[in-house]
Amino acid sequence: MDVEKKINQLREELQQHNYNYYVLDKPEISDYDFDIKLKELQELEEKHPEFADENSPTQRVGGAVTKSFATVVHEFRMYSLSNSYSKEELEDWEKRVKKLVDGKVEYVCELKYDGASISLTYENGQLVRAVTRGDGIQGDDVTNNVKTIRSVPLKLKGDFPEKFHIRGEIVLPYEGFAKMNAERVEAGEEPYANPRNTASGSLKLQDSAEVAKRPLDCLLYNITGENINIKSQFESLQKAREWGFKVPDESELKTSTSAVMDYVNYWDVHRHDLPYETDGVVVKVNSFHQQDELGYTAKSPRWAMAYKFKAEQESTKLNKITYQVGRTGAITPVANLEPVQLAGTVVKRASLHNADQIEKLDIREGDTVFVEKGGEIIPKIVGVDFTKRDPDSKLTKYAQTCPECDTELIRNEGEAAHYCPNYNGCPPQINGRIQHYISRKAMDIEGLGGETVNLLVSEKLIANYADLYTLKKEDVLPLERMADKSAENLINGIEKSKEIPFERVLFALGIRYVGETVAKKLAKHYKNIDALEAASEEDLIAIDEIGERIAWSVADFFASEENRRIVERLKNYGLQMQISAEKLANQTNILEGNTFVISGVFEKVSRNELKKMIEDNGGKVSGSISSKTNYLLAGENMGPSKLAKAEKLGTNLISEDQFLKMLK
Ligand code: AMP
Ligand code: ZN
Repeated sequence: MDVEKKINQLREELQQHNYNYYVLDKPEISDYDFDIKLKELQELEEKHPEFADENSPTQRVGGAVTKSFATVVHEFRMYSLSNSYSKEELEDWEKRVKKLVDGKVEYVCELKYDGASISLTYENGQLVRAVTRGDGIQGDDVTNNVKTIRSVPLKLKGDFPEKFHIRGEIVLPYEGFAKMNAERVEAGEEPYANPRNTASGSLKLQDSAEVAKRPLDCLLYNITGENINIKSQFESLQKAREWGFKVPDESELKTSTSAVMDYVNYWDVHRHDLPYETDGVVVKVNSFHQQDELGYTAKSPRWAMAYKFKAEQESTKLNKITYQVGRTGAITPVANLEPVQLAGTVVKRASLHNADQIEKLDIREGDTVFVEKGGEIIPKIVGVDFTKRDPDSKLTKYAQTCPECDTELIRNEGEAAHYCPNYNGCPPQINGRIQHYISRKAMDIEGLGGETVNLLVSEKLIANYADLYTLKKEDVLPLERMADKSAENLINGIEKSKEIPFERVLFALGIRYVGETVAKKLAKHYKNIDALEAASEEDLIAIDEIGERIAWSVADFFASEENRRIVERLKNYGLQMQISAEKLANQTNILEGNTFVISGVFEKVSRNELKKMIEDNGGKVSGSISSKTNYLLAGENMGPSKLAKAEKLGTNLISEDQFLKMLK
């Protein structure tokens, strides 16, 4: 079969499977088979850049980096919605509507998804742009990032209009949100507060490959444009579904406000069974003709009304405020509550977030407080019932010292949390750090689990991760449930960890904010621990994608003599404290600060090798040309659209030979 045909066939197949999986939730092939096909397509596209397509299913993995998001004026304004909170308010709205329009009025009830609103523009069935709501008049162009969301169709099916906009909400389902947070906690990072903010934050990440890793979803609810041959909202939802969009099935057509209220009351209870967060129902006049008659106020359409759910809330007594110490020393205040039923579970504890929150809400022990369960996994306290406050109650004085080791707490400027600075002497920190050190993504020490670490620490056999390397079989044999064989495995596992590569050792050290990705970046940049240790905060900030917080934290870690001593010991025990010689051999910083786009076919080196060479020498590779591209590395048969774009932006074109010379 000719290659172009094969490529197109694979694209169509993959698009369909993608749709089955992410929109219909009915996969027809295994993930494995999908990956095989995707790989096949990737390879063909790589070999035949002349058939490149910006909306190919291979683009879902991301790669394009947006440094600053271009502002785009919405062709049709994105309005807000008026809110109502009661049956009476909804009935008042219905009366106003009926005064302004002729004939019978029908209503579409939809759920109000809580995420980040987005406007997608399609031309000739191709996604051409995705823009955030912004202020409703203009928003940010986040197309590169939105393309990675699997449920957003890059190409449409059926009889779609030539050009239109479709609006909806980008959401992060609870399950994916929880998984992301679990990973963050493991990396010693603060968990995200709620799915909504995380969804909107995700859209503004610079690296679309990072966005691709997030389990975002896109739910659509509004079609806008000229010459769209559709007569009603309900029909438009149906059409959007046919064209391949994910339009939730919960929407219903109603003929009276009492039927609308039934819908509201039903979902007020059952929304907790949905996979993502909702905060109300949106009621819309169904007929587009009537919508036109009703028009807009300064801020919102007269033809729609949001009915907001009351957050599920209960009141209960706050018995005591206690404080928890995390492995990085962060203190979390915890409200210990009189057990109460909330959204189907018994709640005994709630997060109080930080000192500011306690002060702001004036929360005191003995108070009757309101507890809510939102998108967060942990319920939170949203206020105090002051009518029930004991006149003798005392203002809460936030902990001054660590509940575990009595060290005076510190709070860095601009940070919400207090910290226990007794890094190497505070039991939960000691234990937590070793637990992190041995964890799967860090040193992954075979034969050593969390329970054993607890024992080793409580028996005072180890006080930091360097101490692991002093353990002998006879030290651990007396421990509970330790047999000869398991003791041997443990010692062997520890010994074997000396082969773990530098970037994972760096991650294992448990420096605050240094997760897997940052550790890799630092390892690549500094190449060995001594250079990293010697780096100043300014040096660190100068590295691409290393922000102030990380820089401060790394410098702070190495400012401690004790930490330096522990790291020195690890080095002496023979751990990998530098990038391996073979990795090092081909690495420089020659290309630092330069972004390349690779296009076409090359004679001497493959595209993958070129990519690796650029990255090994400190440069960056991007998938598409923008004003940030420094070089277009051009081979034979380069795609004409790339060439045109490069010419328009004045991007430097270089050949394979010129590139290889740059590295000399
Ligand atoms: P608000 O931000 O409270 O003014 O509410 C308006 C926002 O609700 C819109 O910008 C949308 O992002 C969001 N929304 C969620 N679901 C829907 C829906 N089904 N119809 C219209 N807007 C919705
Ligand atoms: Zn402490």
